[in-house]
Amino acid sequence: PQPNPQLGAAVKAADRAHVFHSWSAQELIDPPAVAGAEGSYFWDYDGNRYLDFTSGLVFTNIGYQHPKVVAAIQAQAATMTTFAPAFAVEARSEAARLIAERTPGDLDKIFFTNAGADAVEHAVRMARLHTGRTKVLSAYRSYHGGTQQAINLTGDPRRWASDSGSAGVVRFWAPFLYRSRFYAENERQECERALQHLEDTIVFEGPQTVAAIILETIPGTAGIMTPPPGYLAGVREICDRYGIVFILDEVMAGFGRTGKWFAVDHFEGVVPDLMTFAKGVNSGYVPLGGVAISGAVAETFARRPYPGGLTYSGHPLACAAAVATINVMEDEGVVENAARLGADVIGPGLADLAERHPSVGEVRGLGMFWALELVRNRETREPLVPYNATGEANAPMAAFGAAAKKHGLWPFINMNRTHVVPPCTLTEAEAKEGLAALDAALTEADAHVA
Ligand code: PLP
Repeated sequence: PQPNPQLGAAVKAADRAHVFHSWSAQELIDPPAVAGAEGSYFWDYDGNRYLDFTSGLVFTNIGYQHPKVVAAIQAQAATMTTFAPAFAVEARSEAARLIAERTPGDLDKIFFTNAGADAVEHAVRMARLHTGRTKVLSAYRSYHGGTQQAINLTGDPRRWASDSGSAGVVRFWAPFLYRSRFYAENERQECERALQHLEDTIVFEGPQTVAAIILETIPGTAGIMTPPPGYLAGVREICDRYGIVFILDEVMAGFGRTGKWFAVDHFEGVVPDLMTFAKGVNSGYVPLGGVAISGAVAETFARRPYPGGLTYSGHPLACAAAVATINVMEDEGVVENAARLGADVIGPGLADLAERHPSVGEVRGLGMFWALELVRNRETREPLVPYNATGEANAPMAAFGAAAKKHGLWPFINMNRTHVVPPCTLTEAEAKEGLAALDAALTEADAHVA
């Protein structure tokens, strides 16, 4: 595409005049103007092209502008752009069928929402009504969305400003060996002690008051910490013992991201009672999320109305995009590609970077879901920037990000980490291109190692 700096300037001027951006001090941001995107790349109006290692906000699991999904959206728009949720609509029925076929165990009913946060809201509402209890346990180092209940459940600084509405939320520490809260020296200890801590929390809160435990199957924005073997099975067992609803949040980890359809598929035998999804369900082409519901919870609302709904629940355009996305992922082996490229190219490539760059404290992840923990000191594990740093204190991470962009890579950065979360359709050549750019950018981070 031809550069068009004039149009870029106009787009930006209107943005600066009228668009109020998420999570930002409006006068302190400088949103880049994007002109277009295709596959794993996007470009601006000045002729700069970037390899997108963020998948947007970890949602373009099949990359940008997949022609089959674009065509399916166009076809749906031509026949039935929209319809009210109380009707049976082909695109909605088919999307629900395709999702239910892939979700584990008896999660066979799908309640559609507009995105991830409202999926979490509804999962919690279902759990409270199903149990008749109110408290919900969630983990520090988590993100569950920006609406009131979802942000209250979130275990990161984005919650702090909204904490006044946190009634009924109790937070606990989930396992994370690299920064263990349990003085654990290995995964087995971390797992046992994290489960004991969770059970102690429940006992001291009063088990009869706890409606649900919500966990990201593999926490995403908080740092991509795959739980140790046995942890999720242990949580399942605790939930069963105390009659607590087990909610897994697969908004970020689902739909191929980890090299399986759902992250929970890595943990044999673990089936939650409710599972939230969004993002990858249709690669974010049209907003869509939902809750997959088990037989037992569905039964609660078999003869008693579920008190919740949305004007756009199961919007036909979004559902048609989901149907096309799931079929593309199946037909083109997208999930398998994520697994293979993660295991054979990205994982080893990141391990190699860690060997050569002293700023890399740990590499962890799987599929197209990786985190590099950047540190000042590998021995002490002191983060490259303090928790929730801004301005000058965050300068080393800002310099890392700027260096990556200079080398044509758009990086995902959260606190002292960079995440490698490209589309699951990434090619081997693109993976290598991205690794080379990271290599160059990490040299910038190395300059801050003590
Ligand atoms: N849950 C998880 C695990 C997420 O990563 C996110 C978003 O990043 C959400 C929920 C919220 O989803 P949304 O932003 O679509 O409301």
